[in-house]
Amino acid sequence: MLSRRDFIKRCRDISVAVFGAEIFAADIAEGFMKIAASKRPQIAFVQGQSCTGCTVSMTYGNETDFIDFVTRLVRVQVHPNLSFSQGHGYMQLLDSVTSAGGHVLVLEGSIPARMKKACLLGEEPLYNALKKHLEKASAVVACGTCACSGGIPASGRNETGSIDIAQYMRQVGINKPLIKIPGCPIQPDRLMGTVAYIVATGRLPEMKNNIPVKYFGDLIHNNCHRFQYFSQDIYLKDFNTDKHSCLLKKGCRGTITKSDCPTRRWNGGVNVCVESNTPCVGCVNEKWPFKENIYYESRNIEDLPWNDFKKNVLGRGGK
Ligand code: SF4
Ligand code: SF4
Repeated sequence: MLSRRDFIKRCRDISVAVFGAEIFAADIAEGFMKIAASKRPQIAFVQGQSCTGCTVSMTYGNETDFIDFVTRLVRVQVHPNLSFSQGHGYMQLLDSVTSAGGHVLVLEGSIPARMKKACLLGEEPLYNALKKHLEKASAVVACGTCACSGGIPASGRNETGSIDIAQYMRQVGINKPLIKIPGCPIQPDRLMGTVAYIVATGRLPEMKNNIPVKYFGDLIHNNCHRFQYFSQDIYLKDFNTDKHSCLLKKGCRGTITKSDCPTRRWNGGVNVCVESNTPCVGCVNEKWPFKENIYYESRNIEDLPWNDFKKNVLGRGGK
């Protein structure tokens, strides 16, 4: 049983994760108490073309422990990796939850629309099987960049004809509230915070193009601790020796990617890509992975004028 102290702490954590402050903890606690008095919403996870990295990332939750979250605060009725039931048991559970309706369906991964057998759900191609699980959902959450915009499976020549959940819903004629939480992998606070917000308030968070503004409202560049070097035109030349410089000319995509990564950070606030001397690859950007992997071929962008740089990095491989 969750003690009262732990419960309040969870609500505070969620408030910080969602709003960046504790002030909504009481509202969230009230929302959860209402839910506890009624029926908790059911969350059904389905995986498409994915590496399972988003699920792995979620189990390393920062502010909110994912296992606690799924078992106590919301009810993840069915998850292909975390549910006790596997194989046929998972499929039966999925069928029973989604046929009852009112659930929140969370999709991790993309959907092959051309080479349909590239991804199966049970014994059926995901493309054919997914529609019935969406039909009675109250909301759909795209978990990670593959579900949001195709991600890695849709990059390059896109051999399987991979599509994202919004494209899929259009193709099969389903119209549901959709929340996209991009990231490769997903940052756990963003998924748990968003789901907790929906569960506690019964409302969708403020969004732009289906993406919560709270997490993805501002350019990484604007809050980057290396901005001071960018503003002085001090750019990194050697990864081994140079730590006090901007990574732009090594292909950093912080200038074209909106996310709160520099302030939210990762792994319990330990670090974030740019701070560990790694250019932001723009993993939350809907165009990611980009057309040219210029962060591996840094000489391609050395000394590019600013406008050419922006033009050069926009566009995704094969598209
Ligand atoms: S390292 Fe990247 S995000 Fe940071 S200031 Fe330079 S270009 Fe911008
Ligand atoms: S800093 Fe860039 S690459 Fe790193 S997690 Fe954030 S968006 Fe992705």
